[in-house]
Order: sequence, then structure tokens, then C-alpha cells
Amino acid sequence: AAEEGFDLEDVEGAIEEAGHGPLPVLAVVGRPNVGKSTLVNRIIGRREAVVEDKPGVTRDRVTYEAEWAGRRFKVVDTGGWEQDVLGIDASVAAQAEYAIEAADAVVFVVDAKVGATDTDEAVVRLLRKAGKPVVLAANKVDGPSGEADAAYLWNLGLGEPHPVSALHGRGTGDMLDAVLEALPEAPAQTFGTAIGGPRRIALIGRPNVGKSSLLNKVAGEERVVVNELAGTTRDPVDELIELGGRTWKFVDTAGIRKRVHLQQGADYYASLRTAAAVEKAEVAVVLIDASESISVQDQRIVTMAVEAGRALVLAYNKWDTLDEERRYYLEREIETELGQVAWAPRVNVSARTGRHMEKLVPAIETALEGWETRVPTGRLNAFLGELVSAHPHPVRGGKQPRILFGTQAGTKPPRFVLFASGFIEAGYRRFIERRLREEFGFEGAPIHLSVRVRE
Ligand code: GDP
Ligand code: GDP
Repeated sequence: AAEEGFDLEDVEGAIEEAGHGPLPVLAVVGRPNVGKSTLVNRIIGRREAVVEDKPGVTRDRVTYEAEWAGRRFKVVDTGGWEQDVLGIDASVAAQAEYAIEAADAVVFVVDAKVGATDTDEAVVRLLRKAGKPVVLAANKVDGPSGEADAAYLWNLGLGEPHPVSALHGRGTGDMLDAVLEALPEAPAQTFGTAIGGPRRIALIGRPNVGKSSLLNKVAGEERVVVNELAGTTRDPVDELIELGGRTWKFVDTAGIRKRVHLQQGADYYASLRTAAAVEKAEVAVVLIDASESISVQDQRIVTMAVEAGRALVLAYNKWDTLDEERRYYLEREIETELGQVAWAPRVNVSARTGRHMEKLVPAIETALEGWETRVPTGRLNAFLGELVSAHPHPVRGGKQPRILFGTQAGTKPPRFVLFASGFIEAGYRRFIERRLREEFGFEGAPIHLSVRVRE
């Protein structure tokens, strides 16, 4: 490193930063209007990140990355709440439940000016049941005179209320310190306990693509599809299913099996549930209805899995209904709409007839393998050296930036750090990623590539 002009400490720092494993998840829950979204904005420190909510507008971004005191974590915002047919208590409970399930710790936001309401008490019961660490945020304490209001919230029995003003930032630093104490270094529920245990699969996709049918098929039994409302009886959420001689954990299947008929807010629930399932899983199987045009919603769900860094399998369902013409157009659509995830293993299935069900497990195994692949540094640098001399970066402004060396800083998903003598263009980065895949596999794995430039 030194002879290439990089400071050894910088190199180690870059590798450590890129090499972090899956991040722990913090959920921010509470009633509408207590200031959850404002607080999430404050935590992630980017005002524009959480879009202003307008009733009826679909919000599908619910997780964000944040950093405090040098530690990184994910934040799940449940501020996209809309009142719906369930009524206020059930709705708040349902959204909180999804978020809490996926979380390693929870910030429970209460409006200190209003005090604890019945709805707040309902959430407290959920939090007790879940047993996750909770940090109580007494919000809207904009000045010292509000501190007394915050103290009343000791009554909730959740420990010390942290007086904050999400709007002005007052007290949020102390609250975040408490959050870091509550939050494990790594997402224990997803990865810690999963070592040696069953691999976790999230079966996701937009409504009616056939998730429930597929789950029934692979589980080998016709399940009763219960017409129940969310937030009533949702257990069990994770289901162990034997497939291909191995036991797999399908996460958040309750959301798939039970038909939740919501009017308003249904899209938001669907997004929240999908995000929660993805967080809990190692591999996402995205089901796509091959009989219909690939939609923006399909793309968003794929993006969610990729951005979360999970292994990915694409399953095109309802294959039994396709005629030759549709098959032709489907291939064109896959190229144009999902070309960016051409690296994901693909299966063409029919949950109705059982077609190619036996191909699902090998595809999942391939994706997990790619997701865990580690390239030794020596091999990587031999490969990079050849690549750079055979296909140098285009000359820019009389200079030719070069990749000097690189290392794989982490797996699950694979993360690479490359060290360069100058700015590396996006096109060249994509070229390197493509060649890395050709050389080393990584089928089914999103690849993270970061480039450090010598000062
Ligand atoms: P959510 O529905 O829980 O996500 O709540 P929002 O973040 O949308 O906030 C609801 C309202 O409370 C908005 O008008 C915010 O500006 C306001 N608000 C949020 N935090 C504070 C705060 O710390 N102090 C005051 N005075 N108002 C706040
Ligand atoms: P979900 O909302 O994603 O859980 O979708 P469902 O499993 O409820 O399926 C939606 C509809 O598609 C139902 O009418 C199913 O019978 C139908 N369906 C599911 N899979 C297939 C399939 O492979 N072929 C055909 N023809 N129909 C299917």
C-alpha cells in the first residue's frame, strides 16, 4: 500500500468501513403526529430523505441508513401511517408490530405535550410482548418548560423518558446515545442466531403474483387462507418448511397467508411488511407474475432486496398461462426492466401446476453461495492487474486513472474496496463489476464496490 502512495491507516480504515456486516435495525414507532418522521429525519441527518407525506401517496421507502458516534445502523420509519378501515388503535398496532418484529431495538415516540393516550398504551403492550430493547422518546419538548411533561411518561413503565425536540434537535444526541446502548453491534435475530440454523427466505412480490399459492405448494399442504385483519392474530410469523432435504425458514409468512384487506394505506403496509421481511431474511425470492407486464412495483420490490444487500432469486410465476407470444415479450421486458439484476438466478414456475418447483431450492442455494463467496486478496489482485493492463481506464484530461490494488472487505453481500490513482468513472466501475462476476461467480449477489482515490 505504502509504495502505491496510500497511507496504511487509510487503507485499513477503508477496508473496515466497507467490510461491515449486516447493520442492526432500529424501528421508530408511535401514534400518528407524534413526530416519528421528523425524528427519523433528525436521526438520518438528511432532511430530504423522508418525503413529506401526503394522504393517498404511496410511500415505499421505509428503511434508511444512519450513523451516530461512528456506528452505523438502519432506521425503519413507520411514519407513513394512514388511518384506515381498522380504526386508529389497530392500525397503529399493526404498523408497529411489523416494524418491531424486524427491529433489534425500538424508539417509541410519545407526544409529551399530549401525554400518554390509550393508543400509546396499546403500543406499550406490544413492546412488552416483543421484549426488544426500547428507548422512550418524549417528543415536542422544545424547551426546558416541557421537561415536566416528559417526566410524566415514567408512568408508561418503559424506563426513563428521553425528552427530545425532533423539530429543533434538542436532546436527540442523548437519546441517540441511549439508542446505541440498546442496539446490538450486529442484527442478532437475523444472523447471530441463524448460524448453523435454517437459512432465512423472504418470499416477496406484489399482491396476486402467487406468493400464497407458492407457499402452499412448497409446504406440500393446502393451507386455510384466513380472512383476518392485521394486528389480531398474526402468529406464527416465521414458518419452517422442508425443501430439497433441508429445512428453511420462510420469514413473515403470516403476512402472505392471511389476506389483509385494507382500503387506504394498503400499499404502505405492503411496503413495510416487505421491508421487514427482507431485513429478517438472508435471501429474497421475488415472485413476478409472468402473465402480466413487469411493473414499476415489481422493480421497486427487487430494488428493496438489492439495496438491503440480500441474495436474490427471481421466480417468474404462472408459467402455465403463457403462450408463445407472451413468452417472447416477457423476455424483452426482462431485458429492459430487470436487466440490472441479470445476475440473479431465475426460475420459471407455476404454483398452480407445480412446474419447476424442484428448481427453486437449487436457485436459492446458488444465490446464497454467491452471496457468501470470498475472493482471496492475492487472486483478486492478479485478476485486477491483468484487467487493468488489458483494458485501461480511458484517459481524462491527459491523465489515466488506474486501479492500483483491491481487496474484498466483506461478504453477505460481497463488498470490495478498490484503491485508485484517480477518479474512476461509473462506466468503468460497472465494467469491473461485470468482469468480477464473470471471473468469480457471485450469482445472485448484489456487489458493493467502493473506490478510494489516492490524495
Ligand atoms: P408522525 O406522523 O409521527 O411521523 O409525525 P410527523 O413527524 O409528521 O410530525 C407531526 C407534526 O408534529 C408535524 O407538524 C411536525 O412538525 C410536528 N413536530 C414533530 N416534532 C416536533 C417537535 O419536536 N416539536 C414540535 N413543536 N413539533 C414537532
Ligand atoms: P399473493 O397475493 O401473491 O399471495 O397471490 P395468490 O397466491 O393469492 O394468487 C393470486 C391468484 O393467482 C390466485 O387466484 C391464484 O389461484 C392465482 N395463481 C397463483 N399462482 C398461479 C399459477 O402458477 N398459475 C395460475 N394460472 N394462477 C396462479
